[in-house]
Amino acid sequence: MPHSAAVTRRIVRSLERDHPGATTELVYRNAFELLVATILSAQCTDDRVNQATPGLFARYPTPDALARAEPEELEGLIRATGFFRAKSRSLVGMARAVAERHGGDVPADLTALVALPGVGRKTANVVLGHALGIPGLPVDRHVLRVANRLGIAASNDPVVVEHQLGAALPPGRWTLASDTLILHGRRICKPKPLCDRCHAREDCLYAGGAASSPPAHRAAPRARGAETAAAKTRGRKTRDVKTRGMKTRDMKTTDMKKR
Ligand code: SF4
Repeated sequence: MPHSAAVTRRIVRSLERDHPGATTELVYRNAFELLVATILSAQCTDDRVNQATPGLFARYPTPDALARAEPEELEGLIRATGFFRAKSRSLVGMARAVAERHGGDVPADLTALVALPGVGRKTANVVLGHALGIPGLPVDRHVLRVANRLGIAASNDPVVVEHQLGAALPPGRWTLASDTLILHGRRICKPKPLCDRCHAREDCLYAGGAASSPPAHRAAPRARGAETAAAKTRGRKTRDVKTRGMKTRDMKTTDMKKR
């Protein structure tokens, strides 16, 4: 069981103050461009994606234009983002589906988005939340790791974590909360966390914080996390979830097909 909704909201609000202005670092002008950029961001940094997309968008500015391309035509433009053959196929498949099923408009609907080639739940939520004004709560490896460590979620399944966070937070805060947790995961709560620089440590289960901490959840995470000095002092075992192991596995399998 994760923290109560009230504790979760308090922790997230605190993190939002620590990381003001959190948002996606992908550069885009509309939902189509964000959809393309997010697909390209699999196993790639946002900076590298942002270097590739201007040329791609100049040549294929709309879903209809991209739908008329052959995947091989894209490969040179996106090679630097890695896995360029698979990504080329995903992009053209996505564009053709948008053109054929949705008249060339990116659908503003989670179910319709995840039915597009190369589009998984995380990508769909990124596009909904940032470009279409519809609440979306993307759960990537950072959100998964940070939320479990803090105790505001308690699962290794991104969909379960999405629902746990979504139940605790108002829909209007979902996307900002996700962006905030991602930034916290990149800057502070890295795989090797910088707990001494973290303002949330008093509430953090991983760090042995004092916030409400159901015993069942303390027993759930295991194996990969290091015990903190605070936890050792109290003689308690505080364990991390297997998110680091999941990162490699996910990126090599499902992430490349459906993010
Ligand atoms: S206290 Fe440490 S483990 Fe907990 S959220 Fe902060 S950085 Fe992460």
